[in-house]
Amino acid sequence: MDFELTKEQTMFKDMAKEFAVREVQPYVKEWDRQCRMPPDLFKKLGALGLLGIKAPTEYGGLDLDWMTLAVVTEQLSYYDFTLGMAACGRTSLGILPILQNGNEEQKKRYLPGLIQGTLTHCFATVEPNAGSDATAIETTAVLDGDAWVVNGNKTWITNGNLSDFALVVCQTDKTKGSKGLAVILVDWGTPGFSRAPIENKMAFRHHDHGQLFFRDCRVPRANQIGGFGMRAAFANVEHTRFGIGCAAVGAIQSCLDICVKYARERNQFKKPIGSFQLIQEKIAEMVVDLESSRWLAYRLAYLKDKNVSVTKETSIAKYHNMEALARCARAAVEIHGSYGLSDEFHVERLYRDCMGPIIYGGTANVHKLILGRLELGIDAVSR
Ligand SMILES: Cc1cc2nc3c(=O)[nH]c(=O)nc-3n(C[C@H](O)[C@H](O)[C@H](O)COP(=O)(O)OP(=O)(O)OC[C@H]3O[C@@H](n4cnc5c(N)ncnc54)[C@H](O)[C@@H]3O)c2cc1C
Repeated sequence: MDFELTKEQTMFKDMAKEFAVREVQPYVKEWDRQCRMPPDLFKKLGALGLLGIKAPTEYGGLDLDWMTLAVVTEQLSYYDFTLGMAACGRTSLGILPILQNGNEEQKKRYLPGLIQGTLTHCFATVEPNAGSDATAIETTAVLDGDAWVVNGNKTWITNGNLSDFALVVCQTDKTKGSKGLAVILVDWGTPGFSRAPIENKMAFRHHDHGQLFFRDCRVPRANQIGGFGMRAAFANVEHTRFGIGCAAVGAIQSCLDICVKYARERNQFKKPIGSFQLIQEKIAEMVVDLESSRWLAYRLAYLKDKNVSVTKETSIAKYHNMEALARCARAAVEIHGSYGLSDEFHVERLYRDCMGPIIYGGTANVHKLILGRLELGIDAVSR
């Protein structure tokens, strides 16, 4: 495997870094304090092409490889883990589901806006009674003539309150179990579709999360995006897990760089704290976590670019890299002592924000169950 970046990949990596240094780094602390991200940030990312890396040129995308998306996500996440995740999530759960399963009219209607940053999506699976067990979804979509009638509640939906449309995973036929699942597109403004913000969050404070409510919400039959079953509903979740693995690399690098600087500058016992072996041990462990995470993420991107099945490698990278980030963020706060608890240093936010994707994209337990099933050939949760 050759992980040397091409000129083009390097160019996009540098572009993402320059963007983040200019548009993100000076402001992110204030966004976190105010619990909001500026609405035009995504338009700026879109203008640079950074939201259309995996989208075809005919809809305004760049049609580039997964490795480019990996390094761009890593760079954005170095400066703001939340933004890196949000930008990559637009590809995995906004652009790709429509690109792969939408009809031509839907592609023309939604893809250019998602790529330019003028439209916002949300992908709604999770419900009050259906989290890790997505097959337990209670939101129904029932055909009535030429319309789907959607009823149910979704929760913890990223962009729930900002989205122009929602991709809603629904149960179309309870008797079929997971084979009855389908994704239905519901435009904001459709009668019967309402929403409410989730506030006072520990992590991702400047990103929107919401509850969605559907009450006899009628949408055209053609709004079904793809077919029926687990694969039709969740194939793109794997791309989100890839994005999490890549974003974690940027965040770990950030922990390391901030800690190296601090450990050189902070003196105790008349010496820089970086001269103490126990601090060096923490730095050494971060280096190992960084390198192992980066190679898992790049290997995953490399394999995705070869178009091979990567369920196993995706679970390894998501699980490993988030555990590694959690270790590094904790160590980073400890290295900063009491200052690590203030938002003066980036590490307090990283410590909180890393809890977001520790939960979503499948918890560590869920990924252990996937890896166990793949190795043993036994599904621990089959009913
Ligand atoms: C910041 C954030 C953003 C999110 N964005 C979205 C979004 O855009 N769209 C969306 O649909 N959802 C979203 N979610 C929801 C997320 O996908 C769920 O929170 C996640 O799937 C876990 O579900 P749950 O919270 O209901 O936990 P539960 O499934 O209730 O799990 C609780 C605990 O039980 C464990 N557990 C569950 N089942 C098993 C098992 N079989 N064996 C062992 N342990 C088990 C879990 O690992 C976990 O530790 C988001 C969540 C967060 C925090």
